[in-house]
Amino acid sequence: MELDQAKFGLCKREVVDLLREKDINPTTQRIEIAHLILQKPQHLSADEILAELNREYEQVSQATVYNTLRVFVEKNVIRELVFAPDRIYYDSNTRHHHHFIDVETGKIYDISPDCVKCPEMSYVDDLKAEVFEVSLLMKGRIPKA
Ligand SMILES: [Zn+2]
Repeated sequence: MELDQAKFGLCKREVVDLLREKDINPTTQRIEIAHLILQKPQHLSADEILAELNREYEQVSQATVYNTLRVFVEKNVIRELVFAPDRIYYDSNTRHHHHFIDVETGKIYDISPDCVKCPEMSYVDDLKAEVFEVSLLMKGRIPKA
């Protein structure tokens, strides 16, 4: 049962329903964190999420944020993007898509799978590995308007 995660800007009641559907106990802090991340398609670091929460809501501890993000990733509420060990982002868009990073600003853009010719691989010979998903990370420069 693949939930339509292209829905953003959920109200808190809808967030509670979503968490329940994903078998996640909707604690107050989990609701706040999901509500924040699922506002729109976006890519946030754990520190950005923590800073944003503590500006808008009650104090939430770093441990709570990290634990909650882990649960959300496991239950496919959000996707974890590991660009580098020190560049990990949480993506509110769980649909298959690619990413483009603007090297000037560091901003991450979602790229529709339709825009990119991606190799349809199901097996990597070198590793004898089965492939579940191929996603691209593109880096480049966006011309100034
Ligand atoms: Zn994305």
